[in-house]
Amino acid sequence: MAAVSFRQVHKAFGDTVTIPSLDLDIADGEFVSLLGPSGCGKTTTLRMLAGLEQPTRGTIEIGGREVQTLPPAQRDIAMVFQSYALYPHLSVAENIVYPLRKRGVPKQQWPALLQQVVQLLQLEPLLARKPKQLSGGQQQRVALGRALIRNPKVFLLDEPLSNLDAKLRAHMRAELIELHQRIGTTTVYVTHDQLEAMTMSTRIAVMNGGVLQQFAAPDEIYYRPANLFVAGFIGTPAMSLADATLIRADDGFVVSAGGLSLRLPAAALSLHAPREVVLGLRPEDVVLGAGPWHARVKVVEPTGHESIVLLDCGGVALVARVASDLPLAAELRAGDDVPFDVSLSRAHVFARDSGARLNRDEANVTALRRTRDAA
Ligand code: ATP
Repeated sequence: MAAVSFRQVHKAFGDTVTIPSLDLDIADGEFVSLLGPSGCGKTTTLRMLAGLEQPTRGTIEIGGREVQTLPPAQRDIAMVFQSYALYPHLSVAENIVYPLRKRGVPKQQWPALLQQVVQLLQLEPLLARKPKQLSGGQQQRVALGRALIRNPKVFLLDEPLSNLDAKLRAHMRAELIELHQRIGTTTVYVTHDQLEAMTMSTRIAVMNGGVLQQFAAPDEIYYRPANLFVAGFIGTPAMSLADATLIRADDGFVVSAGGLSLRLPAAALSLHAPREVVLGLRPEDVVLGAGPWHARVKVVEPTGHESIVLLDCGGVALVARVASDLPLAAELRAGDDVPFDVSLSRAHVFARDSGARLNRDEANVTALRRTRDAA
C-alpha cells in the first residue's frame, strides 16, 4: 500500500493545456474518486499516474518515490479499464494468472496466489470458462482478479462499471466497497457518476476544465460545496441556484432573490461577502406545506417514494422534494400556490464573480482564526 501525490503537475497535448497545475495528496489506503464532466481531465490524470502518459511538468509520487519518468511496469500499480481488456482465447484462470507469467513469478507460486483471488471474488465456478461465456459483471470480476493477483501498491480503475446495467452497477458498487474494506489498497477511481463517487469514496476530487475544484469527503462536498461548480454538479436533483442580492442588516445579512428574502445571522457569512451573490438551496431544504414564503407549482414529478416539485417563486426557479406518504404529495397540482419554509442554516451563498463559497462553515471559521492568529 502507498500514498500518492501529484505536485504541480502540468499536462499539455501540443498547444492544448489539459491540466494547468494539479496538486493532490492521496493518503495510504484511501479510495479516491476523480469525478467531473466529460473532458475535465480525469482519465489523463489517471493515465499519468499509471505511466501511460507523461506529465509535461511536475512530479508524481507513489509511496514516497518519484515515478513520473518510470514505465508502467515499474510503478507497482494495477489498472482496470472500462473495457476489461480480457484475453478472449484464455480461460478465466489463465487470464487471472497472466500478470504472474509476464512478471516471471515462479510457476509453483501461481496456484496459491490464484486461490486467494478466486476466494476473494468468488470466481471458483467460472475458472474454466472463456470471457465470452461470462456476463458483464463476471468479466468485471475477472478483470479485478487479474489486477488483484499482483498485489499492487495502488489500484487504478477507469470507469470500470460503465458497461453494466443499473442493477449490476449497484451490485458491483457494493462489491467494490467490500473489497476495499477487506484489502485496504490505495485506490484511485475515475468516474463521471456522482452516485458511484459519493457511495464508494473516502474522498472525492471534483475536477472541471483540468482544475481541481474541491478534494474532500463526500459529506463535505455535498453539504459544503467549495464553489458554484461543485454546488451545481453534485446532487440529484441539482441544487437550485439563483442570482441574489446581499445586503448587510444590523444583526446579519438579507439575501434576496425574486420572491425570496432570507435573513441570515452575522456569523453565517464571510464579512467580506460582496453584494452580487448566488443563493443555493438543495431540494430537501425547501420544505413545502407551511412557512413564510409562497411559490407557484410548475411541475410535479412522482418518482415512487417521493415527488420532485418544480416551483416558481417570484421569478426564481426552486426544486423541492415531498415524501410520497405525506398527504401534500397527492394534493399538489401544477398552478397551485403553495407556502414553504427554508432550512436557513443550509442556505448556500456564493460570490457571483468568483463562484467561491461565502458561508462561514466551521472549516472556514477555523481557517479565518488561523489567518488572524498568524497576522
Ligand atoms: P471522459 O469522461 O469523457 O473520459 P475525462 O475527464 O476523462 O473525460 P480526458 O480524457 O482526461 O477527460 O481528456 C481531457 C482533455 O484532454 C480533453 O479535452 C481531451 O480531448 C484531451 N486529450 C486527452 N487525451 C488527448 C490526446 N492524446 N491528445 C490530445 N488531446 C487529448
